Amino acid sequence: MLTYYEEDLQNMEDYKLFIGSHVDMKSPDSYLGSVRDALSYGANTFMFYTGAPQNTFRKPVETLKIPEGRALLKENGIDESKIIVHAPYLINAANIAREDIYELSVNTIVSELRRTAAFGVKVMVLHPGSHVGLGVETGIAALCKALDTCFECDGTDVKIALETMAGKGHEIGRTFNEIKMIIDGCKHKERLGVCLDTCHISDAGYDINDFDHILDEFDKIIGLDRLLVIHVNDSKNPIGAHKDRHENIGYGYLGFEALYKVVHHPKLNGIPKILETPYYNEKAPYKQEIEMLRSGNYVEDWRDKL
Ligand code: FE
Ligand code: FE
Ligand code: ZN
Repeated sequence: MLTYYEEDLQNMEDYKLFIGSHVDMKSPDSYLGSVRDALSYGANTFMFYTGAPQNTFRKPVETLKIPEGRALLKENGIDESKIIVHAPYLINAANIAREDIYELSVNTIVSELRRTAAFGVKVMVLHPGSHVGLGVETGIAALCKALDTCFECDGTDVKIALETMAGKGHEIGRTFNEIKMIIDGCKHKERLGVCLDTCHISDAGYDINDFDHILDEFDKIIGLDRLLVIHVNDSKNPIGAHKDRHENIGYGYLGFEALYKVVHHPKLNGIPKILETPYYNEKAPYKQEIEMLRSGNYVEDWRDKL
């Protein structure tokens, strides 16, 4: 048994842990299948893409068995406000150099916000994008203009959670300051929040072993009230690597103890924690990872028993 935060937790009987993973959405059961998968992992939240993450081809929401999925959620007492959508990867609204990409990105964000709302989901995670060599400030200005355009015409109240990035290539959103610049540059700040990814912030140079300090800094620069989602991933690379390669819990450079502390941190009460760790031997690792992160009981070589 682990003892971290035992005292804190004793004082926090109301600590509500929402933990789940990324789940697929595929034919024929679509959303109903996603909900079933999440329940089979012992999750009480999850994250999904409304179509393939690598492209913008989307099936009409009417065909995705949304009412059936929502009914199953209700039956199981799952709080829908904790479920998360992730926008497709290829959106890059920070690329002002290519008007076609910028426009496609705006159209895609609007369409994804509307699709998210059709599932009854309130938060969509978005990668801030790449400034493609034009500089952080130029990229951020383009992104802010794009986001405001989206918020003014999408007709939903879905929030966008800007994800903290690993700092690959010309990615923006590598530091809390860059995220803050994006929020400051938007008119519709009430629609913006943040998704903190443990693998990405470690890659960006934040020391996960000093998580209290990370949260203090986050609070000082952005404000903890903006924190809407945590992505819980171990990392294949050491701190500062800027690589963005996720690893199974306990198998990477962050380790089980540090990630357990993140999941149970008193300041993150009620914030959904989502695993985006890789499949192992083509098997989903999430049931085991969720169980270990809930209980604090780490099982050595758990992956070999999948
Ligand atoms: Fe992401
Ligand atoms: Fe992530
Ligand atoms: Zn990542």
